[in-house]
Amino acid sequence: MIISAQPITIEHIHQALAVVEDPEIHRPITELDMVGAITIDAAHVDVRILLTVAACPLRERITHDVRSAVLAIDGISTVTVEFGVMSDEQRTALRRKVRGDEPSIPFSEPGSRTRVYCVVSGKGGVGKSSVTVNLAAALAARNVRVGILDADIHGHSIPSMLGLRTGPTQVDRMLMPPTAHGIKVISVGMFVEDNEPVLWRGPMLHRALRQFLTDVYWGDLDVLLVDLPPGTGDIAISLAQMLPSAELLVVTTPQTTAAQIAERAGAVAAQTKQRVVGIVENMSWYDAPDGTRRTLFGAGGGARVSERLSGLLATDCPVLGHIPFDPEFSATSDHGTPMVLSAPDSPATAVFFDIVRALIPVPRSLVGLRLTVTPG
Ligand code: ADP
Repeated sequence: MIISAQPITIEHIHQALAVVEDPEIHRPITELDMVGAITIDAAHVDVRILLTVAACPLRERITHDVRSAVLAIDGISTVTVEFGVMSDEQRTALRRKVRGDEPSIPFSEPGSRTRVYCVVSGKGGVGKSSVTVNLAAALAARNVRVGILDADIHGHSIPSMLGLRTGPTQVDRMLMPPTAHGIKVISVGMFVEDNEPVLWRGPMLHRALRQFLTDVYWGDLDVLLVDLPPGTGDIAISLAQMLPSAELLVVTTPQTTAAQIAERAGAVAAQTKQRVVGIVENMSWYDAPDGTRRTLFGAGGGARVSERLSGLLATDCPVLGHIPFDPEFSATSDHGTPMVLSAPDSPATAVFFDIVRALIPVPRSLVGLRLTVTPG
């Protein structure tokens, strides 16, 4: 912005700051009433920014953006940025501005552009969470705006797989999810002490999940992946009521009893009228260092689940990919970096990127045609 031959006013500074977005909410800080006192002393400007919470992890970024915006004004040579914290009233006003008075589930609103995939498996240990984080990381690497809701009350391993040690920040009744590798994450594990097992049942669990969907500020997401506990039980049904347009992604190993998984997932899908987007077969084979390929866990599980589910639901439920067994998986998840990022040239990574093609949102002109189900 170029302003010349006239004194610089507070209004000019405000106008310049309108290009600065809050890094979490992605709306101009001026619109969110985050700009406090401004003083101008010749070529120097002091700006006070009101943060939503004192421990805002994004201070540096805000300082940088505010300084750049103000220094772009012709005639300003130095800027000092100070921080204050919003009062409870200011936070409530901000939350109302962003989420309205009665928070609803943004993904079940007509016109929602977010594709929601519930990742399910027949039993634990088949790699459901590993598949979820790797698909999310691959989506983020393709510039898809992606979030994970870790609803696996028994495992809740997603934060550690992504190296996340922080929980959400709270602004009034709104929770801002932490981000890792470009993925927004909320996990039941963030709400329990020291990784204790979660003992929530029935109505309490339902309430908690609803809260994760209504009170978390997910922003504009293209894809939300929901990691469900194994066994497709009550939680799957609860979520289907809250997210009627969600689709199921089934993870299996080659050896798993196909009929059992297919029947469980199929029963949920038939009852909830959800589409099964496809099946991912994990740990399909192992390429040993001596060049031989071995099948460690049998063969054909994915194909059998696909056949059985397609028959049960009378619609095509394809196998989207076969992921090889790779010992790197455990190592990478221990370090908090998904395989697709830490081993970009591995065969498993290539499969994840193939699968992602089936999950990437449909062109905008077609979005909305699926949304014919009334939220429960
Ligand atoms: P689930 O969520 O189904 O319980 P996890 O994703 O936690 O399963 O995976 C269970 C274990 O198997 C983890 O130690 C993980 O690192 C490992 N694992 C998952 N997929 C693979 C794979 N393709 N190759 C090797 N190890 C894997």
